[in-house]
Amino acid sequence: MAENKDNMQLNRRDFLKLSATGLSLTLVGFNPVLGTFQEAYAKNAPQADQWFMSVCPYCGTGCGVNVGVSNDTVVAVKGMPDHPVNKGELCILGKNLVGILNTPDRLLLPQKKVGHQFKPIAWEEATDTVATQLKETIDKNGADSFAMYVSASEYIEEYYVYNKFVKGCLGTNNLESSARLCWASGVVGLVKAFGSDSPPCCFDDIEVADLFFVAGYNPSSSKPIFFKRLMKAKKANKTKMIVIDPRRTDTAKKADIHLQIKPGTDVILFNAITRELINKGLIDEKEAKSITQDFDKLKEHVQSFTPKFAEEKTGISERQLSEVVQLIGQSKGALFMWGQGLNQSRIGTRKVTSLLNIPFITGNIGKAGAGPLAVTGQSTAMSLREVGALPNLLPGFRKVNDSQARQDIAKIWDVDPQKMSPKPGRTIPDILNAIEAGEIKALWIIHSNPAATFPDTSWVRKTLNKLDFLVVQDCYHPTETSQFAHILLPAAQWAEKDGSMTNSERGMNLIEQAVQPPGKAKTDIDIVMAVARKMGFEKQFSFQKTEDIFEEFKRCTTGRPNDINGLTYARMGKEKGLQWPVPTAEHKGTKRRFMDQKFPGKLNLAMNQHADPLEMPDKEFPLWLLTGLVNEQYHSRTRTSKIPSLNRAVSEPFVEIHSENAKALDVMAGDLLKVTSRRGQLTARAVITDNILKDAVFIPYHFSFLAGKDKSVNDLTIRSFDESAKQPEYKAAAVKIEKA
Ligand code: SF4
Repeated sequence: MAENKDNMQLNRRDFLKLSATGLSLTLVGFNPVLGTFQEAYAKNAPQADQWFMSVCPYCGTGCGVNVGVSNDTVVAVKGMPDHPVNKGELCILGKNLVGILNTPDRLLLPQKKVGHQFKPIAWEEATDTVATQLKETIDKNGADSFAMYVSASEYIEEYYVYNKFVKGCLGTNNLESSARLCWASGVVGLVKAFGSDSPPCCFDDIEVADLFFVAGYNPSSSKPIFFKRLMKAKKANKTKMIVIDPRRTDTAKKADIHLQIKPGTDVILFNAITRELINKGLIDEKEAKSITQDFDKLKEHVQSFTPKFAEEKTGISERQLSEVVQLIGQSKGALFMWGQGLNQSRIGTRKVTSLLNIPFITGNIGKAGAGPLAVTGQSTAMSLREVGALPNLLPGFRKVNDSQARQDIAKIWDVDPQKMSPKPGRTIPDILNAIEAGEIKALWIIHSNPAATFPDTSWVRKTLNKLDFLVVQDCYHPTETSQFAHILLPAAQWAEKDGSMTNSERGMNLIEQAVQPPGKAKTDIDIVMAVARKMGFEKQFSFQKTEDIFEEFKRCTTGRPNDINGLTYARMGKEKGLQWPVPTAEHKGTKRRFMDQKFPGKLNLAMNQHADPLEMPDKEFPLWLLTGLVNEQYHSRTRTSKIPSLNRAVSEPFVEIHSENAKALDVMAGDLLKVTSRRGQLTARAVITDNILKDAVFIPYHFSFLAGKDKSVNDLTIRSFDESAKQPEYKAAAVKIEKA
């Protein structure tokens, strides 16, 4: 007891530990009760007597993990030594997975809001209420008055059940996911460029490439194991690395060339690079013309993007541009990687397709060590695309507006094809607008937290309050979103359920259920199927086990790009990370696609112009707000805020400002700053650095109003969205800073 008391006193002291350089800041301070409980538990954790195979549920790298269990409790997580992706290694998030399970805020019972309070109810009443309310809403207002919004960290079988229920049984395509917030522009860009969603590369390309071209992407923080592999290959093979980022991130610090670009001007830079590659004769025009559409049009289009013009607009000097062009021109195999810095923009899709012009015209496609290599921020963003758990898709990358596709899937689903809607469903920005307009009346949110993660969150909160009926299915309560629910459904998470998932290199993995969910929590599949059966869809949801769902999904992939008829749970258990397509039992998986240079059609080149963000810095709000992540937290921290060691590293938001701005404001490292946009304000401590442009500030996006008053960074961000993909523009809002 004495030891615990001492710890609690220590933990209550929130203090700042500034590094010797004065450039970085570590914030300490976390829930003392939870902190001491978890640390004491970890010290005395029993030895695991059983081990289960799983995959880290955070990023799209998809590291294999072994989950150690004793007495139906997860007591250890280790990197899987024989997994091809991580070979036993885990980053700080993966190493701390044990702590996300038995937390004091686990939602253990179904609950119903009565007045302003939540009251526990039985499962029978909960599922009856959801089924009745959905039926009444749809009967009265039509199927499109309902929407489901799910996370991008769920398993293939879960997405499959949601898709079948929403699109096949209810007759609306309003099934959306939080992948919209992180990779929508990237995916739409790939589809526009290739003619289909076609990730071509694999992680083994890292060791083959001689150049890494990294744009708007900081894998050192967001995908540490992937980044470690990049750095190992860089050292061993002397691979060159070009990084394009307005911040001198840890990734940028390792680059041979860092282009510290003015925020948002990537299209101009990529067009200028393309122009120089063509004009300096550094590409094989004949080869480029043979695999692409409209090469001559692109050549003409980029002529106005002269190095001088690019320097003026992007801040990248003619000399640096020339060095970059030479490196690309000399490369025998270049990998092109990008992330939120391109995707989270009003012209995110334009940025991605302008980037993809470069590998297409330089022959960096359809060969080992070359091409676009996109690793998503959420673990199963690839799975949900394959399953078609997006408003415009059906399983196997089919489109909802394709009548043959609807008929094919209706047959497998055993539903009436006439009931399936040909109209693409709503994206999350449109869902929220439709709630505000009174067109969507009922929303079912699964493991997602839009009241924290969507831009302009004060508007989101008002909007969620307008719903007639909000179901929140989650493993934690409260979250920023769960408080708006009418019904709370306690869900199992990660090691408490089984299934399969695909990582960003199309690698398929099995996840074994290691422990039972706590309290009365149930698996997501069981919850949704219980409601579906009560709404009359017993026949469609007669699966006896999770594997039955996988087997039905496999049928939807026959002859499709992601054909996985050669896989079974048993095979995935033995052969980890096999990459689709795997059409037969004898097939060994497909590391790289298009090695025969046969693409879905000719590759599309993009003739893009730059467009400014919706909101530009001005006299009143003179700085750019850039948001992003830190290594030690994940998304809105529903999981990572429970881990004491992660909170010790970063437990509250901070504002990274350039040293000249700090001097002008008479601000010292650790002083409180007030950051204001046209939509809201945030108060946080200053981190002073020269790693950011003078006209920008950076704030991590993990914190919202549960972290405290004026701690919600998305109170500042703007409701501006990519014109094609509807992904929010998190990296371009205008703000001002004052000493608080
Ligand atoms: S790199 Fe990604 S998948 Fe691997 S352990 Fe870290 S968060 Fe998990």
